Amino acid sequence: MRGLMMDMPLLIGNIVRHAERVYPQREVVSLLHDGRKHRQSYAETFARARRLSSALQQLGIEAGDRVATLAWNDHRHLECYYGISCLGAVCHTVNPRLFPEQIAYILDHAADRWLVTDTEFLPVLAGIAKELESLEGLILLAGAGEPSADFIRSLDYEELLAGGDPDFAWPEFDERTAAALCYTSGTTGHPKGVLYSHRSVILHSYAGISADGFGLSARDIILPVVPMFHVNAWGIPYAAPMAGAGLVLPGRHAGNPRALTELLNNEAVSITAGVPTVWQALVDYLDEEGLELPGLERLVVGGSAPSLALIQRLMARGIEVRPAWGMTETSPLGTVNTPARRDAARSDEELVRAGRPIFGIELRIVDDSGQELPWDGQAFGALQVRGPWVCARYYGSEDSAPADWFDTGDVATIDPSGSMQITDRTKDVIKSGGEWISSIELENIAMAHPAVQEAAVIGRPHPKWDERPLLVVVLRDGVEVSEQELLDFYQGKVAKWWIPDAVAFVDEIPHTATGKISKLKLKERLRD
Ligand code: ADP
Repeated sequence: MRGLMMDMPLLIGNIVRHAERVYPQREVVSLLHDGRKHRQSYAETFARARRLSSALQQLGIEAGDRVATLAWNDHRHLECYYGISCLGAVCHTVNPRLFPEQIAYILDHAADRWLVTDTEFLPVLAGIAKELESLEGLILLAGAGEPSADFIRSLDYEELLAGGDPDFAWPEFDERTAAALCYTSGTTGHPKGVLYSHRSVILHSYAGISADGFGLSARDIILPVVPMFHVNAWGIPYAAPMAGAGLVLPGRHAGNPRALTELLNNEAVSITAGVPTVWQALVDYLDEEGLELPGLERLVVGGSAPSLALIQRLMARGIEVRPAWGMTETSPLGTVNTPARRDAARSDEELVRAGRPIFGIELRIVDDSGQELPWDGQAFGALQVRGPWVCARYYGSEDSAPADWFDTGDVATIDPSGSMQITDRTKDVIKSGGEWISSIELENIAMAHPAVQEAAVIGRPHPKWDERPLLVVVLRDGVEVSEQELLDFYQGKVAKWWIPDAVAFVDEIPHTATGKISKLKLKERLRD
């Protein structure tokens, strides 16, 4: 017997209709390139998104066409998210921090028809213009840029919108229609495209706003430090209007602790989200300047493992810290670390875990032969996930069989309470004498030493043990510490054979385009 409820497709346009009716005056605040603030309501934002859709349709954009963006977090990029996807086209966000060759590869692979870009990326685009055969032209976001001679057509975004219809009615279509496209960073091999659907975006947004997700409500104002050009800023641009929360978008200033502090305090932000390096820089800045974040209730940290030291420094300021795990292929929210009980205080070990899966995501860990491993907090194995917002296959490989379980490339433990902890990327685990050493755990310990600004642990080839851990550190300004003192710091905290053999002091640790430590580059640099 079939249920007799209404069969309405789960479309991104539904979020718009909801916010237009219920939260039309909620604000979207953007910090512009020149440091000025721009304010507009959800009603204005979505009227402009409708104008964009109608203008794109006039340009000949049809259902399924890819329209790319190369832009920071601001109101215009938000309008693109909705204006492109609600038309039935695919909003393809591109990461400007990638190498030009990677940007060219991605735009070509996705066969994007138009590219909406902030003008500051024009020099990069000019260098690769000849390789972008599918591209019909550019739409320039921030007005100041010179139209580029390297492209056949370049249009001004505001002029385009002026010619669009603010009441444009979006078509209704199947909820499995593609909505957005994001490529993985491709640390090894070519970047791969993850193609989100309207349905996956809506379900992921529900999970995102849930109490043990972001815990987002109409009483909140949320600031995504995570970029809208990577994994949809963790879904916040969809979740905020769904919940009726206000949005604060930091533009190109997301990496500037002074600008962030100003926004968090003056815009009454209650929730924020970003990668550990951003929060590390922010707490250092707050300490130096003697500042506080009195209104900030909650901070979500993910993308790589936050250290216990960082979590404790934030908690000491009265902020609730929620570590979270996910990846491009999981939209990205997979697990969030929140207390599972009202009463007991959490141990240090519990505080740093990546957390429990939010409903919709299933996890398991398996050994080399694919046998599932127990959730005892001890056994570690390859982490696999499945769920309605997990990638079944990559863009361009539609003919391959969809995955039953997605292999994350992470190694993890899961404890009896269902809380997961990443111990490593599969390719970063250190194999010493046939046993595995967790580089993340060793980094976490080093980060607790007061002299250490940033730490990475990599495997160094060893004739007898195969590999041995090498600790690489950047020291805080003006601080000195000996190699022996850092190594002694591990005594009693891990098994003796886990303690690194040596320390390399460096001025800087290389990062990837998504802000993670690039162990590949680090190994290359330290080979000698
Ligand atoms: P990429 O852009 O490199 O594909 P993603 O941005 O998709 O990477 O990041 C996914 C990876 O980031 C995860 O597979 C995991 O290795 C790492 N990661 C994300 N969150 C955490 C976390 N809380 N702890 C440890 N690692 C994390």
